[in-house]
Amino acid sequence: MEYTSTRNAVCRVSAAQAIVQGLSEEGGLFVPVSFPKADPAALAGLDYPDLAAAVLGLYLTDYPPAFLQAQARAVYGGGFGGKAGWMSEVEPGLYSLELWHGPTCAFKDYALQLMPRLLAEAKRALGRTETTLVLVATSGDTGKAALAGCQDLAGVRVAVFYPTGGTSEIQRLQMATQEGRNLAVYAVEGNFDDAQTGVKRAFTDGGLAAALAARGVRLSSANSINWGRLAPQIAYYFYAYAQLVRQGAAAQGQPVDFCVPTGNFGDILAGWYAKQMGLPVGRLVCASNQNRVLTDFFAAGHYDARRTFYKTESPSMDILVSSNLERLLWHLSGSDEAVRGWMASLAQTGGYTVPQPVLEALKADFAAGCADDAEAAAELRRRYEENAYLCDPHTAVAFKAAREQRGTAPMVVLSTASPFKFPRAVLAALGRPAPQNDFEAMEALEAYTGAPAPAALAGLRGKPVRFTEVIAPAAIGGAALRSC
Ligand SMILES: *Cc1c(COP(=O)(O)O)cnc(C)c1O
Repeated sequence: MEYTSTRNAVCRVSAAQAIVQGLSEEGGLFVPVSFPKADPAALAGLDYPDLAAAVLGLYLTDYPPAFLQAQARAVYGGGFGGKAGWMSEVEPGLYSLELWHGPTCAFKDYALQLMPRLLAEAKRALGRTETTLVLVATSGDTGKAALAGCQDLAGVRVAVFYPTGGTSEIQRLQMATQEGRNLAVYAVEGNFDDAQTGVKRAFTDGGLAAALAARGVRLSSANSINWGRLAPQIAYYFYAYAQLVRQGAAAQGQPVDFCVPTGNFGDILAGWYAKQMGLPVGRLVCASNQNRVLTDFFAAGHYDARRTFYKTESPSMDILVSSNLERLLWHLSGSDEAVRGWMASLAQTGGYTVPQPVLEALKADFAAGCADDAEAAAELRRRYEENAYLCDPHTAVAFKAAREQRGTAPMVVLSTASPFKFPRAVLAALGRPAPQNDFEAMEALEAYTGAPAPAALAGLRGKPVRFTEVIAPAAIGGAALRSC
């Protein structure tokens, strides 16, 4: 399989090159030049690790199949406690694909447990000997998932920067207690924007790049524009479909709808790739929180990031520029020239408008819905009271959109985080008093629901804190240099 750039039609790279490089030189995203076909019925007999390796193998054709199989087994076997691709029936015809049974209790584990291994193998195959320093600005989930995925991996180091007041206490401790010899974690004074701006500046700092190069180090990013982060997410759509067929909830070939709590548009785009490969996906419902840029875009074809930014109870979806949408627009328009124009307009004016045929193509595959914090909280409580099903605030946004968009096909909601990661918000949504302390809130949620908190979260209480350094945003580059 070859990859091209969304902004440069003459570009051609292998999967390994796409994964090492991350972004194309002119700023485009790497996209596969065609869609490999997969037979859902043939994949249905495989367990999760084998299915993941089979789907990945169709895209990562320059990787040895035995390598992909071994890595998929190492990642999705033990680390997910036998619950990779786990699906619960919430009520007849409505399902929850629980993607948070991995080591950090967020769906990002599916990609970030695997991507560093794909990166290391790509470097080996390409004969590259530099150390890769992964810089991450995080509002919580990505930082921890990147740390856990890179822990003690040869040739890779990670430096994570989170805003001092911007994460939950549990998320902070998840990062500050992380074990491993090749990583560093810093709290940055200010909010997420301050941390992100500081990290972006580090990426364009020529002096820093030179100082790192002198030590044999090159910077890389762990955010979801890397193909190595997107590709591993395609597999769980096939796995979910196979489970529905096995349970008799869908006949082989019958369409199934999926509803995805969306931020950067990576998770839902993986479902669109699955559809292009031959999976009978009906509609993909894009669920947004109060930052409803995508809801408005799917309605009228006008992308407008010039709007108020809301900090919500579903922070991983607080995004105004959804990077992976660029890939979809390239596939639907077939034109790097058109994509260049839209992205230039986005950078210069904060928005762009796609022509009618592209909007029609979007609407053929996607529906959209949104929920503000109050609506998501009401939905969370409704699912608990009507179905005895507990979900987190991100997933609650999707349940509301799914309820509004449900047709005759089975509907699968992608559940992206454990409710115990956000115990205070979940208790408040359930109408329960929420203790200030996250661990007391976790216990109160356990007591009220009778469900146990994941050991990886409850166990944080006794873990020694390794990282306590607080730095100014301007010191991020220096910290990156010190960390290797
Ligand atoms: C990252 C994240 C999302 C958004 O996923 P995208 O691929 O960025 O659209 C949703 N929910 C949770 C809990 C997340 O961590």
